[in-house]
Amino acid sequence: MSDYFNLNNGVEEAKGIIAKLKKVKFNKKLLILIILVVIGIPTTVILSQQKQVVEKQASIVNPSTVSELSSLVMTKGKLDLRVDKAGKSTTSEGRQVGVAVTKAKERKEKMLKLAEENPEEFLLNALPSQVTKNLSLQVRDQVEKEVDIKGKLVVIHYDDIKNKKDKFEYRVQVFDNNQKMVKSYDLYSAKPLRYLQTGTEVSVKGYGLDNKVVIQGGGEVDTTGLHVYDSPKQNPLGPQKVLAILFNFDDDLRKPISKDEARKILFSDDAQSIKSYYKTNSYDKVQVEGDVVGYYTLPSSNESCDGSYVWGTAAQAIAYDRGIKLSDYNRILYIFPTKGNCWASAWATIGGVPSEAWMTEVKTVGIYAHELGHNFGSAHANSLSCGDKPIGEFEYGYPNGCTSNEYGDPADVMGYTPWEHMFHFNAPHKEETNYLADSQILTVDTDSTVTVNALENVDSSVKAIRVPISESGSYYYISLRKAIDYDQNLPTGITDGVGIHLWRRYNQFNNSSGSTQLIDNTTEAEGSVDFRNSSLTDGKSFIDTQNGISVKQISHDQDKATVEIKIDKSVCRHLSPDLSVSPLSQVGIQGEELAYDFTVKNNDSPNCGASDFSVNGYAAVGGFQTSSPAMSIGPGETKIIQVKIKSSNNDPIGVYKVTGELRSQYPRHSRDTQVAYIVFGSLAYVVANPDRIDTSLGSEPSIILATAMDTNYKRILGGVNYEWKFISDDQVGTIENVNTSTNKFTPNRPGNGGITVKATFNNYSSSFEIPVNVSGTLTPTPTKKTLKLEPTADAFVGKDKPSANHGSLNYFQTDSTPSTISYLKFDLSSLAGKKILKAILRIKVSDSSDATQSLNEVSSSSWTESRINFKNKPSFGNKIVSFKANKANKIVMLDIEKIVNLKKGRVFTLGIDSAGSNTAKFYSRESALSNRPQLVIEYQ
Ligand SMILES: [Zn+2]
Repeated sequence: MSDYFNLNNGVEEAKGIIAKLKKVKFNKKLLILIILVVIGIPTTVILSQQKQVVEKQASIVNPSTVSELSSLVMTKGKLDLRVDKAGKSTTSEGRQVGVAVTKAKERKEKMLKLAEENPEEFLLNALPSQVTKNLSLQVRDQVEKEVDIKGKLVVIHYDDIKNKKDKFEYRVQVFDNNQKMVKSYDLYSAKPLRYLQTGTEVSVKGYGLDNKVVIQGGGEVDTTGLHVYDSPKQNPLGPQKVLAILFNFDDDLRKPISKDEARKILFSDDAQSIKSYYKTNSYDKVQVEGDVVGYYTLPSSNESCDGSYVWGTAAQAIAYDRGIKLSDYNRILYIFPTKGNCWASAWATIGGVPSEAWMTEVKTVGIYAHELGHNFGSAHANSLSCGDKPIGEFEYGYPNGCTSNEYGDPADVMGYTPWEHMFHFNAPHKEETNYLADSQILTVDTDSTVTVNALENVDSSVKAIRVPISESGSYYYISLRKAIDYDQNLPTGITDGVGIHLWRRYNQFNNSSGSTQLIDNTTEAEGSVDFRNSSLTDGKSFIDTQNGISVKQISHDQDKATVEIKIDKSVCRHLSPDLSVSPLSQVGIQGEELAYDFTVKNNDSPNCGASDFSVNGYAAVGGFQTSSPAMSIGPGETKIIQVKIKSSNNDPIGVYKVTGELRSQYPRHSRDTQVAYIVFGSLAYVVANPDRIDTSLGSEPSIILATAMDTNYKRILGGVNYEWKFISDDQVGTIENVNTSTNKFTPNRPGNGGITVKATFNNYSSSFEIPVNVSGTLTPTPTKKTLKLEPTADAFVGKDKPSANHGSLNYFQTDSTPSTISYLKFDLSSLAGKKILKAILRIKVSDSSDATQSLNEVSSSSWTESRINFKNKPSFGNKIVSFKANKANKIVMLDIEKIVNLKKGRVFTLGIDSAGSNTAKFYSRESALSNRPQLVIEYQ
C-alpha cells in the first residue's frame, strides 16, 4: 500500500477510468458510465462523482403528493399478514404489487428531489424499516432504507461570486479496511449541520435512497443523526505545502494561465502574492509554499461543471503517474479553463487533509486567498441587515428578522473585498485559524472598560473582545482595524472605530454555517445599510436591549480603542427554547398510542423563573389525539416532555404529519415542530402459546397465553379483548381466565378437543384454535361389594369345666362367675388388597343378660373349634367395643371396620366376655341358618 492511496482515495478508480478512456473518443457522460460498468468499477462511486451542482430552486415538490403516493405504496405493496390457523396467508399476496411498483417509482423520483430541496419533508415522508420490510420486494427496492453509515466527511463550499450566492455540499465517503474508498454518498440534512471540516470521521444515521442520505441534523448532539468520532488533525499554521495542478480538457485545450503566472500569484515574494498575503495576515505564522504542475489534459469535457469533483481525482492520478509525490502536499489547487457554464466561480473543501480547491477565476489573487481561507477552515464573512436597527431580537441564539448578506463584510477576504484588495481576516476568523493566540482574545462578561488594539499590528496585545450573548453559544466580537499593509484601502467608516461581529462558531442558524456577521452601527445616522461605515464612533453606543448588552466607544486612535461594556445581568430575557424531537417518525396501528420525546431546553437568562411548558399537538388530517404533561423547566435546564399521540380507529394507512406546538406563558417560548405518525395496518392475527396442548389426566393445569400481533409483527400491547371458549360442547376439561390474555385449562377426561381464543382490536378480530389432547384412561369407579362371612369356628370355654370343649354346641355363652368366654374365628383371606368400607358383626342373642358384654381382639387364631378349652384358650388383646345382650332374639350389630381393615387377608379371632354373673347366650354357627353369627363386609 503506497502513501498515494492513503493520501487520496478514489484516485485508483480515476486512474483506471483514464487508462481506459484515453483510447476512446468521448465526451458523453452516458458512454463513460457504460464503460465504467463494463470495466467493473462500482458505479455508485462514479455516479456520485457526476453530481450536479444545482442552485436551490423554488419549485418545491408538493409534499401532499408524496404522502398520497406513500399511502398507495403502503396499501398496495403490502404483504398481507392475515393468516389462517395453519399459518397461511388468507389473501393472495402480490395481487396489487404491479400498481405499487409503478407508484413507488413515481414516488422515488419525488423523494430524490425532496432530498435535495426539502430534506425535512423527505424525512417526514420516509418509510421506516418496520413498514418497508412488510412491502413486497419489488416495491421495497424503490423505497428509501434506514442507513447507518460510518465514513469521512467531505465539505465543499461553492462560491458564486458574481451573484453573491454560496452553497455547502456534503459527502460521506466510506472506506474499506485498506483505506480505499468504496462508496460515496451525498449527504443532506433537514436542519443546517454544525460547522464541520473535511476529513471529520462521522457516522450518519438516516435514510438512504440511491446515493443520497438524508439526516435530521441541526444540533450538536447525536440524536440528530450525526455522530462525530474524530476531527481531522490539520494545522493551519506553519508551512502550507500547496500543489497547484493545471489541467484542461480534451475538448478545451486552452491554458488560461501559464505555470509562471501561477507560481508568481501563489509562491512569489511579490506583495500581491498568496505567500505574502498569508504571511502578513497570519502575523508570519503561515508559510505558503509549493509547486505548479501541468498542464494535464483530462479525458473529459468542461461543457458543464458536472463531475468536477472527479476532475480533481483524475488530475491527481495523472500527477502521480508523472512522479509527483502527492503526500508531500497538504493543499491541492486545481486550475482549469471554463466555458462559462459553471454554477460557481470557485469551490473548495472546508479544511481537509489534503484540502482541495477548484479555480475557474484563475488570475484574481483574492479568490485564491478566499478559497485557501476555506481550505484553512474559515467560512464566509457576512454582514447582518436588521432593518433600521443594528440588531434584532434574539431567537435561538440569533437575531430574529435579520438577514445575513453573503460576502457582506467589506473588510475580510472571506467577504467581498473587492478582489483586487486582499483585506485581512476579521477577528473571529483570526481566532478560528489560530492566527490570534488565546491571550489576545479577551472574554468580557461583566461591566468593564477595556482597550483593544488594532488587528493589523504585529504584537501580542489584545486584538479581540468577546462578549457572550446568551447560553446558546453566540458572541459579539469587538475589534479595531487599521489602514496599513493589506488593509491600507479600508474605508474610513471601518477604521474610525471598533467593528462588531456576531459569531457562533458551530452556527446552525440559516444556511451560512460558520460565517461571521458584521453589524452596522450607523443605520440611524445614515438611514440605510452600508457596511463600509459600520464602525462605532467615539461616544456612540451599540445597544442590545434584549440581551442587556451595551458597548460604548470612549476613545480611539489608529492603534487602539477603548470601549465601555455594560452587561445587565438582572434582566430576565425570555429566549426561544431549543426543541428537538425523537423519534421524528414512528409506525403505529390504528388506534395505537405512540410516545414522542420532545427535548426542551429553556434558554431564558438565569434571572428568569421557571416556566411551565406544554406541547399541544394537532394533525391537519386524521383523527389524532395528543396529550402531554405540563412541565416546569428552569433557565438553562433541559427536560423531556413526552407527548402521546393516538391515531383513531378509522385513520387509513398513510403518513400523517402531526405538529407539536411548544408553549409557555411567554409568547417568546413558542416553537413548533413536526413529527410523522405512520399508520400501517392493524390487528393481523392472534397466536397462543402453547399452540397445542398434549396432556394427561391428573397432570397440572396448562397455562395458555394469547398474543395479538399487528401487521408489523409487533405485539399489540393494550386495547385487545380476548375471548376463550371450547370449540365444541365435547369438553375434555375446564377453562378459567387467569387474566384477559391468559387462560388455564384443567383436563378432566381423556380425548380430543380444542379451545378457541378470539382477539378483538378496534374493528378487527382474529381467532386461533388450540387443539387439546388428553391421554390416560379413566379408572372406573369401583363398585361396592358386600361379603357375608360366617365364622369358620366358634366355641365357648368355662372355668367350671376347664378341660371341656363346647365347640359343637349350637350356642356360645358368656359369664363372669364362673368365668365363661366365647371365641369366633373368621377367614378374611378373600379381602386381601381390598378397601374395607364397612364391617358389621351380627350376633343373635338367644338368652339375654343385663351384664355388659365386651368384644375383644384375640392374640392367636391357632385354636380349633373341636379342641379349645379353658386351659388352652388364647388370651384376649385390646377391647374393641362393649355392648348389651339384654334381649332374647335381638341381633347385636357391632361396627368392627377398623379391626377388619387391619386383619384383611388373614384369619382372625374375636373374643367375647362378660362383666356380670348373669349368663348371656348367643346362637353359634351350628344353629339354624338365620340365627348364625355373620360378619357383613362392604368393600371395594
Ligand atoms: Zn467562499
